[in-house]
Amino acid sequence: MQKKTPKRKQIAKILKKHNTWIGILFFLLIAFLAFAIWSGLVSAFVYYIAESKVMGEYKVISYMAELYEKTGSDESFEDLPDMETRDYIVTDRNGNVLYQRGEDTRGEVNAYLEFLGGSEPVKATADQSTNFFYTDEEGEMDINFSLFIPWFLSDELNSFVKKENGNSNFYFPLWLEKDIRNGSEVFYGKAYAEVRLNDAFFLLLFATVLFVLVLVVLVLILVNIITTAISQKRMVNVFFLDVVTKGHNWMWFLIRGEQILLRRKYSRNRYAVLDMVFVKYRNFCVCHSVEEGEKMLCTVNDRVSGMLANDEIISHYASANFAVLLHYSDENQLKERIGKIIQELEGMDGIHRIAFQVGVVTLGSAVETGRRGRRQLVDLEREYNNACAARATLSETDESGIAFFNEQLVSEQKWIDTVQECQNSALKNEEFEVYYQPKYDPRNEKLKGAEALIRWNSPEHGLRPPSEFIPIFEKNGFIVHIDDYMLFHVARDQKNWLDRGLDCVPVSVNVSRAHFIERNLADHIRDLVDKVGTPHDLLEIELTESAFFDDKKTMLETITKLREYGFHVSMDDFGSGYSSLNSLKDMPLDVLKLDAGFFSGDLDDERGEIVVSEAIKLAKSLNMETVAEGVEAKEQVDFLARQGCDMIQGYYFAKPMPKDEYEKRMTGSDLKTPSSDDSADGNSVSESI
Ligand code: C2E
Ligand code: MG
Ligand code: MG
Repeated sequence: MQKKTPKRKQIAKILKKHNTWIGILFFLLIAFLAFAIWSGLVSAFVYYIAESKVMGEYKVISYMAELYEKTGSDESFEDLPDMETRDYIVTDRNGNVLYQRGEDTRGEVNAYLEFLGGSEPVKATADQSTNFFYTDEEGEMDINFSLFIPWFLSDELNSFVKKENGNSNFYFPLWLEKDIRNGSEVFYGKAYAEVRLNDAFFLLLFATVLFVLVLVVLVLILVNIITTAISQKRMVNVFFLDVVTKGHNWMWFLIRGEQILLRRKYSRNRYAVLDMVFVKYRNFCVCHSVEEGEKMLCTVNDRVSGMLANDEIISHYASANFAVLLHYSDENQLKERIGKIIQELEGMDGIHRIAFQVGVVTLGSAVETGRRGRRQLVDLEREYNNACAARATLSETDESGIAFFNEQLVSEQKWIDTVQECQNSALKNEEFEVYYQPKYDPRNEKLKGAEALIRWNSPEHGLRPPSEFIPIFEKNGFIVHIDDYMLFHVARDQKNWLDRGLDCVPVSVNVSRAHFIERNLADHIRDLVDKVGTPHDLLEIELTESAFFDDKKTMLETITKLREYGFHVSMDDFGSGYSSLNSLKDMPLDVLKLDAGFFSGDLDDERGEIVVSEAIKLAKSLNMETVAEGVEAKEQVDFLARQGCDMIQGYYFAKPMPKDEYEKRMTGSDLKTPSSDDSADGNSVSESI
C-alpha cells in the first residue's frame, strides 16, 4: 500500500493557500472597508466644516426668533445684517404657516411656501427630518444626520451651492428652526452657510488624495490576486499535467478526487473509483510505435473526459492505466455506463480491435456509509489499489471486461494490510520459523540434503505457510530481510549441529529474485555466513527460474562469485517457465531442481517420463546434480532412481518439518523408511501446512 506522500500534502496546501476565490473575497472585503473608511472620514470632515460655518448663522436666526417672539412682528428685523438674504416663516405645531415673508397667513390651512430655497414649493411641516439642521431639546443646534450622507452623496449638493457675486465662496442655504411661544409655534429662518473656496478646495483635495490612496491599495491587491491566479494556473500545469496525455496526472486525481468526495457530506451521490486499462498496450506499442501508443492514450483520455459530468474525473495513472472517479445511482446503471465507455473506446481505432478492462470499487453515498453530515475521508490511493486488485482478476484474458471489488478481495486486502503491519515486529520477535524438508537419495534412501522453508508462527494468526506472506513481501521489498533472516538462522543451525558433531548435509535456502538485483549479494551472503562461522559448502542458494530473466549479467556475476566462495547454487522450479534451457546454457549452476509440476500429473504419463529423464541427462552432462521436487509416490521414486536422479524432495519421504524433527532425521534416530512412514499421506505430526 502506498502511503500519502508528503509532497502531495504540500501541493494541496500550496494550492489551498493560493486559492483565487479566497483572494477575491478578501479583495472585496478590503474594498468595502476602504470605501467605508474613506466616506466616513470625508463625511466627518464635511460635518466639521459645515457645523463650524453654520454656528454664526444659527445665532442670528435664534436672535430673529427671540425678536419675533417678543414683538409679535418682523419689523425690528430690518436692522439685522444681510436681511435681504434672510427669509423666514412661522408655523404652528401642525405645520400650518402662520406668518410668511411679512404676511399673516393664519387660518390658511395647507398654505404652501417656498421651502429650502429650491424651486419646488414644499408643504411646511414640523417634521424635523426634512431639515438639515434643527435644535435639540436643550435648544442646542444639531445636524440631522439621517439626511447627511444621502445629501452629501447626491447631486443635489450642486444645486445647494451657489456662487455669490463673483465671490469665490460657496453658500449653502439652510433652514434653521427655533421653537417659540413655549413650543406652540416654530420659527424657521433661512440662513446661508458660507464655505470658503480654500476650505472646499482642501476638502476636495483631502477626499481625492484619500480616494487615490484607497484606489492604489486596491489596485495593488487586485494585481496580486491576478498574478497569484496566473502562477496558480502555471503551478497546476507543472504539478498536475500528465506529459503523455496532456490531461491530468495522478496527483491531481488524488487532490481533486478527495475534494469531490469530501463534498458529498450531505449528498446521496454514490461514487465509484475505477482502474481502467488499455489491454495489451505494450503489444500495441511494439506493433506500431510508442508514439502511436501514446497518441492512443491521449485519445482515451479525451474520449472519456468528454463522457464525464462535472463532478467526475479521469487521470492517467501510469503506463496504460487510468484512474476514473464516477458517480452512479445503482450498480446496474454503473455497469451499463462503464460498458458504454468501453464500447466507445473499443471503436476508437478503426483498424485494430482494442480491449479495455476496468476494475471498480464502489464507495456508496454519505447516507449509506452512515456518515451523513460528516467529513468523508476517503483514502483514494487505497481505493484505487483495490480497483486495481479487482481489475487484476481479469488479467488472464485479453478481452474487455468489468470486475467489481468484492468481499473476497476485501479480505485479501485486509490480510495484506495485516501482514504488512506485522512484518517488522514478527521479524524482531523471531516469529518466523525455519522448517526443513529433507532430500533423500532415491537409490539408498539416505539423507543427502534439505531445503529450508519459512513458516510464520504468529501468536495472533497461527501457523501460516509461505504462500500467504512471501508474495506480499516480494511485492513490498521486505523479502530481502526474510532472505537474510533465513540465511542467518540456517547458518546458525548448521554451525550448531556441526559443533555438536552431527553429520550435516547441505541445506538450501531460497533467495528471492528481488534480492538478486543487488550487485554485492554474493559478498553480503558470505559476510553474513562468516559471522556465524558456518562452512560455505553446507549452504546452497536456491534461485527460482523466473529470476533468471532479470539482469542476466548481474546474476552471472553473483552466481560465479557465490561458487567461488564455496556455496552451492541451484535453479529452483526448473521446468515451470519457458526459457530455462537458455538459462542453463549461460549459468554455471551446481544443482537443478525439477519442478513439482513434472510429478503432479498422471503417474503413467510416458511423455512426462521422457521429459524428466532427458532433463536429468541434460543436467548430468552439464555436471549438475538433480533434485526432484514434489514427489509423493513410490513409483515416481523408483523411476527417478532408475534415471539417476540424485535427490528427492517430496512428501513421499518427508514433509517440511520443524528443526527438532529434522535433527532427529539427521541423527538417524527417526529415519523412518517411507514404507513405515505415514507422512506420505499427509498425516505427519510434524507438518500439516
Ligand atoms: P519452493 O522453494 O519450490 O519449495 C518447495 C515447495 O513445495 C514447499 O512449499 C514444499 O512444502 C512443497 N513440497 C515439497 N514436496 C512436496 C510434495 O510432495 N507435495 C506437495 N504438494 N508439495 C511439496 P512451501 O513450503 O509452501 O513453499 C512454497 C514456496 O514459498 C517455495 O517454493 C518458495 O518459493 C517460497 N519460500 C518458502 N520459504 C521461503 C524463504 O525462506 N524465502 C523465500 N524467498 N521464499 C520461500
Ligand atoms: Mg525452493
Ligand atoms: Mg521449488
